[in-house]
Amino acid sequence: MDSSIYNAEVISKIMVNPDIMIVQIKTDEPKNEFEAGQNTLLGLYGFEKRSSNSAIESDPAQPDQLIKRPYSIASSTSETQHLEFYISQVKSGQLTPRLFNLNIGDRIYVGTKITGHFRLDETPDGTDIIMVATGTGIAPYISFLRSSIVQRPESKMIVIQGAAHRWDLGYYSELTFLAESYANFFYVPTLTEPDHHWDGYQLPIEALLKKDILQNQFNITPDPERTRFFVSGKPEMVGHVSDWLHDFGYSRHHPDDPGEMYVEEF
Ligand SMILES: Cc1cc2nc3c(=O)[nH]c(=O)nc-3n(C[C@H](O)[C@H](O)[C@H](O)COP(=O)(O)OP(=O)(O)OC[C@H]3O[C@@H](n4cnc5c(N)ncnc54)[C@H](O)[C@@H]3O)c2cc1C
Repeated sequence: MDSSIYNAEVISKIMVNPDIMIVQIKTDEPKNEFEAGQNTLLGLYGFEKRSSNSAIESDPAQPDQLIKRPYSIASSTSETQHLEFYISQVKSGQLTPRLFNLNIGDRIYVGTKITGHFRLDETPDGTDIIMVATGTGIAPYISFLRSSIVQRPESKMIVIQGAAHRWDLGYYSELTFLAESYANFFYVPTLTEPDHHWDGYQLPIEALLKKDILQNQFNITPDPERTRFFVSGKPEMVGHVSDWLHDFGYSRHHPDDPGEMYVEEF
């Protein structure tokens, strides 16, 4: 079968757990510059094999169909040929079981454009930045931090990451290291199903925010003028946090109607 449209190669694959992976892809040609938080398409043909731990496809792909989906780039913006992605397997999905079956050296399609308005560079200098994530919603923040933490010493930057278990907290080591290394960066992981070794927060993100953790721990009261919020991840969490922010006067950011709350659901 013809796969000549593939324009990149897998150069690294780290399984965070059986259904979450960090994959690095080297494109044949350097990409145009992009902004932290943007996304691009990954694609594989329907004829590619699915992972051994996937389920029956709910909507079977045709063998000659190029299945394409958007993924947030986790790499620094200085990396225009090595792109990193943080991907969760939807077991009955079309693309992710095929992505999970890839090995180092395998070929893949990467979209020609890098797009998206979930961008740190659209926030005013000096504002504090709160980044809220569940699941793979953490990926754009890794790009934010790798690209810009050094350039925003005057902003407090806080990641609040929610997950069920400790092993679902992707990038935990990197985020912990950054929090120990930069005086303006703070990392707040919270688990809803922790084991007995966990001594951190044990609440859903929405409940944590309602308990005034930002005021009590960081002296930040949500104020659209001084603090920008990014909210990324599962739709239910995104909806609850957005509602909570509305009460403080936040509005959702759109390119033609700027707001102080940046939202990405997936
Ligand atoms: C801007 C943007 C950025 C994204 N970035 C990422 C990223 O960084 N990492 C990442 O893993 N995904 C990301 N996604 C989601 C990604 O594009 C795919 O939708 C996802 O990987 C599922 O693709 P699939 O082909 O395997 O499933 P599909 O065949 O598209 O879906 C099969 C079924 O599963 C449902 N489904 C889709 N996603 C989920 C889910 N997460 N949980 C449960 N059910 C689901 C669908 O509604 C459908 O019914 C992003 C989406 C957008 C819009």
